Amino acid sequence: MIAPVTSAPAASVPPDLAGAVLTVDLAALQHNWRSLAAAASPAQCGVAIKGDAYGLGMAPVGRALWAAGCRHFFVARPMEGADLRALLPEAEIYVLDGLFPGQAEFYARHRLRPALTELGQAREWAAFGRRYGHKLPAGLHVDTGINRLGFGPEEFRALLDDSFLLQGLNFTLLMSHLACADDPAHPLNRLQRDRFDALRAALPGVPGSLANSPGIYLGPAFTHDLVRAGIAIYGGNPTPHQPNPMKPVARLEATVLQLRTVPAGDTVGYSASWQATRPATIAVLGAGYKDGIPRSLSSRQDDGPAQVFLHGRRCPIIGRVSMDMMGVDVTDLPQGAVKRGDRAEIFGPNIAIDEAAAWAGTISYELLTRLGSRYARHYDGIESEPA
Ligand SMILES: *Cc1c(COP(=O)(O)O)cnc(C)c1O
Repeated sequence: MIAPVTSAPAASVPPDLAGAVLTVDLAALQHNWRSLAAAASPAQCGVAIKGDAYGLGMAPVGRALWAAGCRHFFVARPMEGADLRALLPEAEIYVLDGLFPGQAEFYARHRLRPALTELGQAREWAAFGRRYGHKLPAGLHVDTGINRLGFGPEEFRALLDDSFLLQGLNFTLLMSHLACADDPAHPLNRLQRDRFDALRAALPGVPGSLANSPGIYLGPAFTHDLVRAGIAIYGGNPTPHQPNPMKPVARLEATVLQLRTVPAGDTVGYSASWQATRPATIAVLGAGYKDGIPRSLSSRQDDGPAQVFLHGRRCPIIGRVSMDMMGVDVTDLPQGAVKRGDRAEIFGPNIAIDEAAAWAGTISYELLTRLGSRYARHYDGIESEPA
């Protein structure tokens, strides 16, 4: 049995002493997994839990997903895999970075399945298995057009032609990764799928996996046997330009450190980049780029479009985001409404992570994975019993 998470990690900061509070809604996370699993069905729904669960905390996220019924997990690095193994003794764990040189023993000890990306890795894994008398399970990652990791067509052919090598390998997954799944009209999607399907024919019986989160929404021809959902699990929109079918999972709130009144003509913050055009009330929030708030959320002189949500209203971010703080214009809130210690939402239920990321000139993935370590972390929502 997996012990439920009852408290935040030991290193966490008490909320009343934190400049910002990150709340992760584990019930929403589980809901998102179930709805992606339904969308991908009859394929199974695995989860990319790499990067500390996209910055949200691998331990509570991993336990919540296991409890919801998720059995397949994808990490980037072998160390992430070892950490996840300690948490989930029975999970199927694939290492997307492949096999690191000389580290087969580490993978085997933690029962990690490398997603083998080239012949040298395949040879090393097979040789290790032979030495220890086991044919160890592994994924086989083929490149179908993104040109990052994976066997190219010629290497794949060479693998198929090497019957001794093939006999030493136990492929439990054939996978490839889409470059443009977030753009359903992009011709590369269909091209990659056609190439993937052609390669699959050479390894009948090996389960296939192509789709990431947006790939699931490209339709049943893309889901194969197992999907690898990432950002959508964490609340990002897998259907760009359409309403987000996912529930928000992460909420980041920054504490009001001080309120100040600024006369018209005064400037706020470094480089005096924002100037008050009327007498203004400014709330200084305790979150900055050290906390993962992109400096590119800073306003331009036109007030910029970036906003926070405070007392039921969107308020513009003004001036430069600095290391530990940022300013917001609360002049349009009722006088006296904002108090020291209040919390402003930077993203969450009222400001979508995709929206905040776009203001900063980036994507939800980067916004989440760059979140800082200095705020209080709070995990909400019951983790239900294992299914
Ligand atoms: C990160 C990753 C995923 C998950 O992608 P999302 O777009 O977050 O759903 C799937 N497959 C591979 C190979 C990845 O690296």
